[in-house]
Amino acid sequence: MNREVLEIIEERRRKNESDRLDRLRDLEERSPKFRDLESRQNALYARASLERVRGELTAYERTIKKAKAIDLEKKQVLAELGLSPDYLEVRYTCPYCQDRGFLKNGEKCRCFKELLRQRYYNRYDLTEYVKEENFGTLDESLFSDSSDVGGITPRQLLRMNANYLWRFCKEFNEVTKSVYLSGPVGTGKTFLVNCVVNELLKDGIGPIYLSAPNLILLLYEDVRSNLNRYLRDFIDSKLLIIDDLGTETQSNFSKNMLSQIVDERQLKKHPTIITSNYPVDELSRHYPERMASRIQGFYQALNFVGEDLRIVKRQRNLMKEDG
Ligand SMILES: [Zn+2]
Repeated sequence: MNREVLEIIEERRRKNESDRLDRLRDLEERSPKFRDLESRQNALYARASLERVRGELTAYERTIKKAKAIDLEKKQVLAELGLSPDYLEVRYTCPYCQDRGFLKNGEKCRCFKELLRQRYYNRYDLTEYVKEENFGTLDESLFSDSSDVGGITPRQLLRMNANYLWRFCKEFNEVTKSVYLSGPVGTGKTFLVNCVVNELLKDGIGPIYLSAPNLILLLYEDVRSNLNRYLRDFIDSKLLIIDDLGTETQSNFSKNMLSQIVDERQLKKHPTIITSNYPVDELSRHYPERMASRIQGFYQALNFVGEDLRIVKRQRNLMKEDG
């Protein structure tokens, strides 16, 4: 895992350095003046190294000074072209370690640790498409604005839920209120949760995001290895997201584990997000009373209604194809 992460970081650095070279080539092509300065500077540096080898130190220092002075002229050319003074610097993904993964004192950089954690869990769940689902790509028009349920249309409800979760992200901290999203399949629950993940990742917060079946599978691994490392992570993570509660194979083991996680996180006031087809008031039929009452008492419940999004989308695509 360390190795994989280091490769990602190295790849970032290669990419950022090669982007810088591309910008340089581009600039040399656009501006003959810049090209000229560049070649004069290179010639001066070449001469300086020769003078140094020969021990002509006074000459060497004078040449270096001349070469460095050209930097100013280059910056002027950049300004004339409307480019920022750091146009030719490497733009590192992580400014702290300049995409090396380690700090000067030899410690692992924060980008390393974050990737390590994300990779670890993403192997199980977080997939590429998640990146495309964010608050900006939410298509409200997929939701009916006419049929209403108890005085509110599916579109209005979705907008309210989206607003709630947007604020959840903006005000996120260690004691943010947990959320329970319930409603039938395909009504936008997972979509909005993906939006939350993307929004938080932008702020450098990497939640643990798992479907209930995968969460249970990992806990079985814990039992086999007798280490409880997953359980500890699930309890201590800044934010735990359990998608599709109720789709796991239900057993005493799964029920007790889920109950324990909900319980411990509540005691520590760590926020949790759960999505499920079960309405919140039916939870006690499927899970231990303690877990159900914790969720009913402490979680913000968001309800989802409406047609199955996947069906609406498919119908739309068919209509598009028809002309
Ligand atoms: Zn870093």
